[in-house]
Amino acid sequence: MKTFTELNLIEPLQRAIAGENYKIPTPIQAQTIPVALKRQDVLGCAQTGTGKTAAFALPILNRLGLQNRSAKAKRPFALVLAPTRELAVQIGASFETYGKHLKLRHALVYGGVNQNSQVRALQRGVHVVIATPGRLLDLMNQGFIQLDKLEVFVLDEADRMLDMGFMPDIKRIIRELPAKRQSLFFSATMAPAIVEITDKLLVDPVKVDVTPETRSVKKIKQQVILVSRKGKTELLHKILSARDDLRAIVFTKTKRSANFVAERLNREGLKAAAIHGNKSQNARQRALDAFRNQFVKILVATDVAARGIDIEGVTHVVNFDLPMEPEAYVHRIGRTGRAGAKGVAISFCSAGDQGDLKAIEKLIDQEIPVNQELSVALPSPGPKTTRGRTGRKPSSGGRSKASQGGRSRKGSSSRAGGEEAAGSEKGKRTTKRRRRRVRTEKASAVKSSRSGESSRSGESAQKKSVKKTGGGRRASSGPEGGATEGSAKRRRPQRKGKNARSRTNTSRSE
Ligand code: AMP
Repeated sequence: MKTFTELNLIEPLQRAIAGENYKIPTPIQAQTIPVALKRQDVLGCAQTGTGKTAAFALPILNRLGLQNRSAKAKRPFALVLAPTRELAVQIGASFETYGKHLKLRHALVYGGVNQNSQVRALQRGVHVVIATPGRLLDLMNQGFIQLDKLEVFVLDEADRMLDMGFMPDIKRIIRELPAKRQSLFFSATMAPAIVEITDKLLVDPVKVDVTPETRSVKKIKQQVILVSRKGKTELLHKILSARDDLRAIVFTKTKRSANFVAERLNREGLKAAAIHGNKSQNARQRALDAFRNQFVKILVATDVAARGIDIEGVTHVVNFDLPMEPEAYVHRIGRTGRAGAKGVAISFCSAGDQGDLKAIEKLIDQEIPVNQELSVALPSPGPKTTRGRTGRKPSSGGRSKASQGGRSRKGSSSRAGGEEAAGSEKGKRTTKRRRRRVRTEKASAVKSSRSGESSRSGESAQKKSVKKTGGGRRASSGPEGGATEGSAKRRRPQRKGKNARSRTNTSRSE
């Protein structure tokens, strides 16, 4: 497959693709589109950033465009299920982009906002619904949407749906679908539970597998800066103020920390917006739009809120805090270096984070170079400390350029104690607290996502966990305080959004 013309898509789609300046189909598109156009089921193993949205959106639009039917009230012809609101919005933006020369309508259906405009859109009639599972079920139960006329069903990011506890909802939705339909499933991994559901739901699917994101991160220039926790905000300012053309996403572990960092940057004259699960959906969308449209150059995000982010031209990703799940690192840094562009990923590493860093390096199968110029010496963790999730013995603290000069984090620093005494007892206590906190937060994240994709209820549970565990990592003040935002074992954030606009529910594709 060399060009889009060989895919035999209808002319309005070809024109839209040309308008987007897409020249060659990505591997997932080249493998999926011809099969999907023949109305076969597809099981795609692909990460976000691979062009997967167009792989399912183009065949759907092609089919509906050929049929040229008017939409029916409450009865869509195609349904796309996505795990998060942000992802749903971006998929909606893709449908709008690719379908701009067609007279088709789509509606977005997701929780966390008033349902009225969504209901009105469904009553007017749409060809395609893009939904998160909780709100969709809600509207189905209220009789605002019926799926008996559905012809194409897409399950996007099935593995994340599973992680977020959506499978029971999805099974309920699937029970309402007509038996005769086309199903297109996409997942980054094929966990046994995913295989089980796909075996049941797909009929003779064509399996498509493309390069996982873990391999593609190698094109991103990565570096680690060893820094004391107290020194992080100053260092961040220094990095972000170094270049005028910089557009950065800064990842923090907690919502409190995201707010703190964004406020601090704004006070220091660097325009930043925070996006996390405590913000309303509208506030989250406003922050994303401000960043997308370059009104602010810096977006400070937690992992939960960052799901679904696909913005072109992000030059830097800064991990103000390392993620606790190594997979999240890959997803975070994948926000830069999109579509072959160059990107820089900088990770701050403080004493006690080295276990997390090792786990990341193991996952991506490469050692991330230390920026010697900006790094400071970190205290030695002590001989038998088992810090970090991995339970592996960490390497010692880093070395200052003044005192050492090599690149490695290995070898021990002569400084004992310092900013964080990392004696083995304290290390064990902190690790225990941290594990307890992760368990609490995993439970609350699952709850929150089930009640409307990181809605407030889940977060109040997280607040409780702050009180309970406060002090483990300076829980109540400064950028390191607060509870980690919902962290049900998550994989990547994502996606789509060239020309993505702020839209909250329905739009006409023309
Ligand atoms: P996705 O994986 O669907 O989120 O797509 C990731 C990014 O790749 C989006 O910004 C798309 O606009 C872009 N993209 C998708 N397909 C192509 C293509 N064939 N050529 C160039 N860019 C593409």
